[in-house]
Amino acid sequence: MIEICTVGGYSEVGQNMTAIRYKDEVVILDMGLELDSYIRYKGEEEVEKLSKKELINIGAIPDDNSIKDWKNNVVAIIPSHGHLDHIGAIPFMAKIYDCPIICSPYTAEIIKRILEDKRIKLPNQINSLDVNGTTKISDNITIEFVSMTHSIPDTVMVVIHTPEEVVIYGNDFKLDDTPTLGQPPNYKRLKEIGDNNPKLLILDSLYSWKEGKTPSEKKARDMLEEALVSKINEDKGIIITTFSSHIARLRSIVEFGKAMGRKVVFLGRSMAKYCYAAEDIGIVNFTDDVKICRYKRQVQKELNKIDKEGRENYIIVATGHQGEPEAILSRITNGEFGYEIFPEDNIIFSCSVIPSSQSIKNRKELEEKLQKKGINVLKGLHASGHGCREDHKKVIELLRPQHIIPAHGDKEKTTGLLDLAVKIGYEKEKIHIMENGMKLNIE
Ligand SMILES: [Zn+2]
Repeated sequence: MIEICTVGGYSEVGQNMTAIRYKDEVVILDMGLELDSYIRYKGEEEVEKLSKKELINIGAIPDDNSIKDWKNNVVAIIPSHGHLDHIGAIPFMAKIYDCPIICSPYTAEIIKRILEDKRIKLPNQINSLDVNGTTKISDNITIEFVSMTHSIPDTVMVVIHTPEEVVIYGNDFKLDDTPTLGQPPNYKRLKEIGDNNPKLLILDSLYSWKEGKTPSEKKARDMLEEALVSKINEDKGIIITTFSSHIARLRSIVEFGKAMGRKVVFLGRSMAKYCYAAEDIGIVNFTDDVKICRYKRQVQKELNKIDKEGRENYIIVATGHQGEPEAILSRITNGEFGYEIFPEDNIIFSCSVIPSSQSIKNRKELEEKLQKKGINVLKGLHASGHGCREDHKKVIELLRPQHIIPAHGDKEKTTGLLDLAVKIGYEKEKIHIMENGMKLNIE
């Protein structure tokens, strides 16, 4: 028998955290932030002054009071990948659990850098486990990482093996057979796990209402290439903005810059954090081809240089794809660095707009400013990191779990997976729509 507590991320998109108990041992999967609440818009400094209790109260981190009774039984914290809505609460919460953090190498590197940035020392060990690797963490529990595609390197489906049952945690995922960086999903292993009659699948269901299949990262790369070949104003400035953690996308941009004979510069703190982490563990090798500017004064110096040498010789990659006022793109647009964006310069948004009211508002304001300046704005050159219905269907058919818990959103999102599972033959009772703080026993 296992007991599951859906601690966070089941009543909203963000602050993902799930706990699974087998006998007297508990494994925590993910410990994420809810970014909208504060972090992204009010600045990290302010948020870091808050206590754990205050962070819970403002909805920034999961409310782990629901697993208060399990506190001394937690044997591992296992983040599935390095996005902040899966690891961002670790600096504030992990220390109360006397156990190691086990994650893939890139995820481990990101966590270490976040802790360094915040000058936080955690008592927990951070142990990295290779993608497609296995580790026995106690007599009763073995953890396995199965290679999965998403929008950040080293994403895994976490498989928990107990003597009685197998639980799979796939939050987040897309099925990308032609990733531009890293391995495709390990279908062979998923099928083998499916052959062992697993008890439970917890699955990212963010787009489980959306028909079809999420396009490959290859498609996003092709769109971006086409734009750079035929949709930009040549001999003008190019600024591209995208997710700092999307190393595959950034690598494509570096390659296009080389082909176009333009130097590539990455501007912004988070850009530096995710890129150096990828570089340190050998996922990419940017330093020969890219100038990475982390601090404001470096950004300022680089922009002065670009102004002097001619912007037509550069591709600037800047943070701020959601129009965040604190990020580099907004600050350039507001004239903060003295780098003027000229009419006919090109600004490319290689991302989607996150559907939160704050992001929609920020992006609208930024785009209006750019329009007024007569900028050539290209938008939506992007492929999502989350699967759609066909992807969900394939995962369920490979794994054939006895029970499913849809994750990564409130009821409005998660019922999409219930609807789909029933359509492919599941009894409704086997699909469990959860909310934050609920517990469920599965025999
Ligand atoms: Zn993610």
